[in-house]
Amino acid sequence: MAHIAPKPESRIGHAERDIVTLGIATAAIILFVGTGSSVVAPVVRSLMGTGLGPDKMLLNAMLLNIALIIFGWRRYKQLSHEVEERKKAEAHARTLAETDPLTGCLNRRSLSAGAEALLAGGGVLAGSSVVVMMIDLDNFKQVNDFNGHSVGDQILIESARRIAALLPAGALVARLGGDEFACVVACDPRRPEIAENLAAGLIEVLSAPILCNGAPVHVTASVGLARSSADKSDPAELLHMADIAMYHAKKEGRNRSHWFEAPMEDELRFRKELEDGIRRGIANKEFVPFYEQQIDLETGRLTGFEMLARWQSPTLGHVSPEVFIPVSEDIGAIGELSECVIRQALEDAKAWDPSLTLAVNISPMQLRDPWFAQKLLKMLVTANFPPKRLEIEITESCLHENIAMVRSLIASLKNQGIRISLDDFGTGYNSLAQLRNLPFDRIKIDRTFVTNLPKGEGNAAIFHAIALLGKGLGLPITVEGVESPEVLEMLRQYGDIKGQGYLYGQPQSAEATREKLAGLDLLRGVQSEPAHVVAAPSENASIAPDGGLRLSTG
Ligand code: C2E
Ligand code: CA
Ligand code: CA
Repeated sequence: MAHIAPKPESRIGHAERDIVTLGIATAAIILFVGTGSSVVAPVVRSLMGTGLGPDKMLLNAMLLNIALIIFGWRRYKQLSHEVEERKKAEAHARTLAETDPLTGCLNRRSLSAGAEALLAGGGVLAGSSVVVMMIDLDNFKQVNDFNGHSVGDQILIESARRIAALLPAGALVARLGGDEFACVVACDPRRPEIAENLAAGLIEVLSAPILCNGAPVHVTASVGLARSSADKSDPAELLHMADIAMYHAKKEGRNRSHWFEAPMEDELRFRKELEDGIRRGIANKEFVPFYEQQIDLETGRLTGFEMLARWQSPTLGHVSPEVFIPVSEDIGAIGELSECVIRQALEDAKAWDPSLTLAVNISPMQLRDPWFAQKLLKMLVTANFPPKRLEIEITESCLHENIAMVRSLIASLKNQGIRISLDDFGTGYNSLAQLRNLPFDRIKIDRTFVTNLPKGEGNAAIFHAIALLGKGLGLPITVEGVESPEVLEMLRQYGDIKGQGYLYGQPQSAEATREKLAGLDLLRGVQSEPAHVVAAPSENASIAPDGGLRLSTG
């Protein structure tokens, strides 16, 4: 690790004082030598009784000299000690500022400084380039959550040690935070395989089990590589490129390395456009609700709609929710986006027949917001929409995190009369446990089980088992992805279940939905008598007789 020189002014101050003290002591010694001969001899003669004592003045001068020598020496020792202490403190502060306290690796700032020095030519042989490697442990979060933070710390320390042990002399290694490490190595640009082999070696040593409290813990690592060139020599840019390459390595299945390639940058640019577009789109109200019909399969009656967000971006054209939902989750905009479409949906659905329900999808990110329930209830109050007509759909994927919080959130929503469906049932690895742990009102069987129903006995058997499970638990079922009359026929034998899918048409805009409902006599005030499925009344005291919500009574 490179040393950083201590602040020059403090050094000069010490040196000046050192010189003054030394000067005084030296002058005293010279004077002592000068006066010594004329004083010591008379003193000796006087002591032997063979002569007179020394001149009083000279004796005083010599005693003063001795005092000055002693004083000078002591002061000199004291100052040397002070300087030593200060140097130690400065070195400690420097270590703290430059390194990661847990692993002793460099930190991000000092890595950049070191990489800059390497790129500027110091330490790099003529004609060689610099390779930046970004290393990320693949399953560290789970290991950390499962085994506790002290085991997590041991893994980080041991991983750092293994990385440092494998790197060639002169290479830099830093921990950038969490389980992310970066290395900077000088490399011959004509021989990229050297860096590739190094990356492969790192992946291998990192995947060897780490003994924590006597038990082996397994982690793997993904590595992204980026090489400097004539036009790419900014450490921050190289780190960024290596980071993108590392994400590609993860995407391709983890436990591997990947070089940065130019098209990845296009992907990144697209992603950036998407992120900016989403933020702008929320502000400009570009996200709109579409509605997919939900049908009672036994009677064929329309029972309500699932709201699905749609985005026609002025710059990117139509973007699928499967693209913009995950990105808005990543950038923390999902809450705002969702509120924006739900608010519009509540207004739209107010005009529908009161027997029709409205289902909305809620992202796991929103469930982590402690104010989510309040926000949703406030929207219902503002729109004067009866909570008993609202259903929220949550996917299994979000239920692994913080189950206690999700449980209390679900409880407070249910208290207000809102119903909760478990979406995409069967696709998560923990479906059954979730069903036992949380008070759902309905399960929605994922469309993959439904669409494939006619394709082989196995699919039918799985579907049958899931349907029986729902019935056994007393939970009503909705099936997604009903695409053909053949599937509908097979589903009908299950009796009382709801279904939705392209067989009943694609999701439609608010306007088209309104027209459809007008045709069915299902717009508020248009129909004479509500002949359709009526949602079960809520027992909650805060629901007014008209179905509206009164928040004040809690
Ligand atoms: P999802 O909740 O499973 O929604 C059902 C998806 O299946 C919708 O896709 C719908 O258009 C599609 N679908 C409906 N019937 C059929 C069919 O018969 N066959 C096939 N193959 N597909 C069918 P969409 O609209 O592209 O939405 C995709 C996902 O995006 C949704 O899956 C949901 O998870 C999410 N999403 C959509 N809107 C929102 C939203 O406002 N908030 C959140 N958090 N997620 C949303
Ligand atoms: Ca859904
Ligand atoms: Ca679904």
